[in-house]
Amino acid sequence: MPELPEVEVSRLGIRPHVENQLVVDVKIHNPNLRWPVPEEVRSLIGQVIDSVERRAKYLLLNSHVGSMILHLGMSGNLRVVPVTEALKKHDHIEIHFDNGLALRLNDPRRFGACLWQEKGVSHAVLQKLGPEPLTEAFTAKHLYECSRGKKVAVKQFIMDNHVVVGVGNIYANESLFKAGIHPKCEAGKVSLARFQRLTPIIKETLAAAIKQGGTTLKDFAQSDGKPGYFAQELLVYGRKGQPCVTCFTELTEIRLGQRSTVFCKRCQR
Ligand SMILES: [Zn+2]
Repeated sequence: MPELPEVEVSRLGIRPHVENQLVVDVKIHNPNLRWPVPEEVRSLIGQVIDSVERRAKYLLLNSHVGSMILHLGMSGNLRVVPVTEALKKHDHIEIHFDNGLALRLNDPRRFGACLWQEKGVSHAVLQKLGPEPLTEAFTAKHLYECSRGKKVAVKQFIMDNHVVVGVGNIYANESLFKAGIHPKCEAGKVSLARFQRLTPIIKETLAAAIKQGGTTLKDFAQSDGKPGYFAQELLVYGRKGQPCVTCFTELTEIRLGQRSTVFCKRCQR
């Protein structure tokens, strides 16, 4: 599943090809994504893309009249290709620009989204989202204050989009290991000091993944457009039964909210 770093790298990849470009056509080949694709997305025709923004895992193609909102869901990816290139199976949405390029959303499982937001209005999917993890709004104090009285496991707490956006399963596992916090700790019982340790680690883990994705990023107009799953060095995620890199204890896997949770029972308390 594309996580925040992959979405951010997609943004960086498509931006040079679509920003300041005039939209000459919007084609909906299959409107049956996670939500039906509204006809309003065609409002983009005749508009210039002023900027490509990211909020949580949503990408916004902003124009003078409104924004197309894209989400990659479980299996989506974006490609920038010449308009003349043949469509691939699962290319559901495409935007044609007057530079001869097309942006195509390909999504085999169709959990992705393509929505429309009028200028000056905040779409329902973008409301009630917590702060961006890589901004100053995301602090230890914020986590501490949001968590008081909460019995939910700290791992599920930091993965809650109302608390902070974009901390996906891989990054939650990795960050809690680096911070020495047991994933099942009750969120409301985690001290401010421990959140002060965790917060910069979450930021560093996400920033490192974006940086790595950025360095492996090929020109989106020439590659298959998949920033893919970066070959990251993971300390716990996917390493069940292997030795902890710090103390060599065998790593344990449990399920939390149906998600694989791997941790070191000696290093994480
Ligand atoms: Zn350990």
